[in-house]
Amino acid sequence: MGYPRLLIYPQKIRKNAMILRETCIRAGIEPVAVIKGFNAQPVILQALFDAGYRCFCSSRLKQLVEAKKLFPEVQSMMLRIPMLSELGELVKIADISLNSEPAVLEALNKEAGRQKRKHQVILMRDLGDLREGQLDRESFYQLALQAEKLPNLHLLGIGTNLTCYGSIIPGPENLGELAEDALRIESRIGRKLEVVSGGSTSSLPLLIHGGMPKGINQLRLGEALTVPCDLIDYWQSPLEGLSNTGLILQAEIIEIGEKPTMPIGKKARNAFGSETLYEDLGCRKRALLALGVADIGDESKLIPMDPGVRILGASSDHLIVDIQDSKNIYHLGDVLDFQLHYKSMLFATASDEIEKFIIQE
Ligand SMILES: *Cc1c(COP(=O)(O)O)cnc(C)c1O
Repeated sequence: MGYPRLLIYPQKIRKNAMILRETCIRAGIEPVAVIKGFNAQPVILQALFDAGYRCFCSSRLKQLVEAKKLFPEVQSMMLRIPMLSELGELVKIADISLNSEPAVLEALNKEAGRQKRKHQVILMRDLGDLREGQLDRESFYQLALQAEKLPNLHLLGIGTNLTCYGSIIPGPENLGELAEDALRIESRIGRKLEVVSGGSTSSLPLLIHGGMPKGINQLRLGEALTVPCDLIDYWQSPLEGLSNTGLILQAEIIEIGEKPTMPIGKKARNAFGSETLYEDLGCRKRALLALGVADIGDESKLIPMDPGVRILGASSDHLIVDIQDSKNIYHLGDVLDFQLHYKSMLFATASDEIEKFIIQE
């Protein structure tokens, strides 16, 4: 029963997932659930299944194996452009994959043939975010024509990814171009595409505020299901009832007292080789917690639940917080609670050192 601990509230996550699913479906969009951000934690998979999600997606095959083991009836989608070296596993495990490379399609077709399976592909168009996908329109159409002709592949549809690398906002122009691509490809292949996949959590504001182009019929939702705080705070897109407290990280105080805020002595770089600025606020009350970058990736991606607690910094295994302004009196051995952003969720859910506690309320 040690710390740090991750409390998981599956009912809260199920409620988020239901609200998001209903919002999408009302707009003619089928949401699929992205499970990589929470490391395919089984209890969260169950919550998403209960909320009606029937396609689980990840960039890691291992997580898709986990999902299939628990829910054999659910479709699995590989999100990362597959490595040539993993096509054998991919065809075995994933029903659908996102693709952008002609050579991968060719090899994937061969592998699917070898395994006597039909593998479904969604082809990725890069609309300016500059991660995966074909940037050039005509090359993209050629890729679609190629996929359509390969006998062991089924061209399920097309999609795009925005925001992740280039920070580009999904809007009527870029997603409109994807919808138009779908129409052009449909006219060239002489049939409808089943899926036009218009991005991730970052496409939700467009949907919520209106302006999602006609034709987009799928979103791949990860972050918003479990930690919707960015959607609410950065994107000004609150949805009634969404909660950021489905996951709470707890860490224990191992040292407490007053210290100066300005380090003493000649300064170089910190544990991670970065030059850091320190603000001299005199002596303040602070606590040292047994939680570090190894557990959460980035201390700025934690949200203290006590508004009087401020995060000062972290090294691999220590977190330093200012508690001077807190209304609570903390003691050695007390525990502080934190909400998570995406990055800290990614680390905390994957860590063996953080015990997971499931709370059914
Ligand atoms: C991770 C990922 C998503 C999900 O993104 P969220 O921001 O968590 O909603 C969707 N599509 C692709 C291709 C991804 O890699």
